[in-house]
Amino acid sequence: MKWTLYLGKVAGIRMFLHWTFIILVVWIFLMHFRESQSIRDGLLGVGFIIVIFVCVILHEFGHALTARKFNIGTKSITILPIGGVASIERMPDKPSQELLVAIMGPAVNVVIALVLYLFLNASGNIPDLAALQETQATLNLGDYFLFNLMVVNIALVAFNMIPAFPMDGGRVLRALLSYGMDRSKATNIAARVGQFLAILFVFAGFYTNFWLVFIGIFIFLGAGGEATYEATKSILSGYRVRDVLMTKYTLLAPGDTLSQAVKALLDGQEKEFLVGDPETITGVLTRDSIIKGLNELGQEAPVSKVMRQNIFTLHPDMELQEVYHQMMTNGCSVGPVYEGSHLVGIVDRENIHELVLVNKALAK
Ligand SMILES: [Zn+2]
Repeated sequence: MKWTLYLGKVAGIRMFLHWTFIILVVWIFLMHFRESQSIRDGLLGVGFIIVIFVCVILHEFGHALTARKFNIGTKSITILPIGGVASIERMPDKPSQELLVAIMGPAVNVVIALVLYLFLNASGNIPDLAALQETQATLNLGDYFLFNLMVVNIALVAFNMIPAFPMDGGRVLRALLSYGMDRSKATNIAARVGQFLAILFVFAGFYTNFWLVFIGIFIFLGAGGEATYEATKSILSGYRVRDVLMTKYTLLAPGDTLSQAVKALLDGQEKEFLVGDPETITGVLTRDSIIKGLNELGQEAPVSKVMRQNIFTLHPDMELQEVYHQMMTNGCSVGPVYEGSHLVGIVDRENIHELVLVNKALAK
């Protein structure tokens, strides 16, 4: 991810901080400072937000370390102003394992809230909420830091357990449904439940708290996208690169001009091309990059000037599910397939989509 600051490795997982998080910290400082004109209050606010994010990171580690138990790695954890994102390589296929990976994030916050509660209770620091309401006093951070932290952790659990797709609750629901039906059907039902809830949130939000409207829109968009993505992945399960391998393809030389590339584009069905020779592919050329190149450099420019050099090399035995996931996360749409040092063909996203369409048609 761009715009991130590398913090270091924890338990073998790389930690990144998105720079917009710093804006959040400054904003929080100013908000608290403006209220009382006291630097101490500003710092208290910043301290609070940082501790919350430590809880969020621990939540992500809950997912990541559980996934590791099932031999699934996590590339990184990124801290964004809206929360943490653990890029877990994939979700396990077994419902029981997916359930555990999804639930262990919120479980961490349950434990934190519980520990805080026990501590506050033992030290007699649980505020009397009814009395506070009567005197219109607020639960300021200076006096009720840990209590506020407990409340935030409970809120994190509630928010994450909403049974809609980008949330952990959506995955829990899908995993539970998968016990009784096949995975793509479970995915569809979970996505519908999520979108229904999202609409409910938007309506309820208009009458109660406007934040619910935002959450609703966020879930609605997420549920749809995630459902398509998950459905595609579940269809691809069991397939390998060799199943969609294209052995007829056009190879362009780095010195070929863009007008030659256009001719190749118009001549056949291909929309993406490998550049180089069979031993060493040096880049990939997409239709978009050809058009962009024509605009900026003209038709006599060599393809090497506009090709993408970051190549995603494949092997015939690779799982298609994993390849699709990589293509979606890296934004690349085509890759050369090598068997040993021998180029045997190419695979593109279009191709994978066709396999999915055929499968969907057959399933009806
Ligand atoms: Zn989570």
